[in-house]
Amino acid sequence: LHVPQPLSAGAALAPTLDQSRYLTQVMRLKAGDALLVFNGTDGEWRCVIAEVLKKGVVLRAEEPVRPQTFGPDLELIVAVVKKARVETIVEKAAELGAKRVRLVVTQRTNVEHVRLDRLDAIAIEAAEQTGRLDVPVVDDPEKLTAMLDGWEAGRRLMFCDETGGAPVATAVTVAGPWAILIGPEGGFSPEERERLRALPFTTAVSLGPRILRADTAAIAALTLWQAAVGD
Ligand code: SAM
Repeated sequence: LHVPQPLSAGAALAPTLDQSRYLTQVMRLKAGDALLVFNGTDGEWRCVIAEVLKKGVVLRAEEPVRPQTFGPDLELIVAVVKKARVETIVEKAAELGAKRVRLVVTQRTNVEHVRLDRLDAIAIEAAEQTGRLDVPVVDDPEKLTAMLDGWEAGRRLMFCDETGGAPVATAVTVAGPWAILIGPEGGFSPEERERLRALPFTTAVSLGPRILRADTAAIAALTLWQAAVGD
């Protein structure tokens, strides 16, 4: 269970009402029962249900069971696509170890608004499911041009370009940190593609001879990156 509160011996934790219902009604846990809790920074803790109240359960942290670990410093940058597809992308990125999902608005992006609270909840749930102890951050959409203007020094960009690029296995050979970029359903404009390919930190890659939907491309790119970098 993910509870965004500090974890230390004896700490009292208040899960949300939904989480409390899940614990008592779905998991059928009662006062005195134990469960594992993480918060993204303090490792995994064995906690017990101290009290079951009308407004939710109270947990007490007992002892650490796993030290905090962090996944690779890998960002997935993806153009904002339809709601269901963005949700799939966030879920799969969390499962496949991305540290951050950045949403971008490009010239051919039709959607600009997302429900960030919902995407955060999806990222947390997916992290819980995989057993990773860090939770990916999901950022509000920003313009591609602004993102490139403020690019972090030292980070490399694996630009997934369906018009051509090297295979990931041969192109991604230097150590990171890396970011993977996936375009919208209509692809990048010629102007955007030209700028992306000319940047000194970019490596253009192909994900194969077939044009993939953005959500499939994100999963394939994350997997191929992992195979190349081994994380
Ligand atoms: N330009 C497109 C069109 O309208 O025919 C398709 C864009 S594709 C649906 C969405 C994004 O997935 C692309 O911008 C690219 O980043 C990525 N992508 C899809 N297939 C790819 C491939 N075979 N190699 C590299 N990237 C790919």
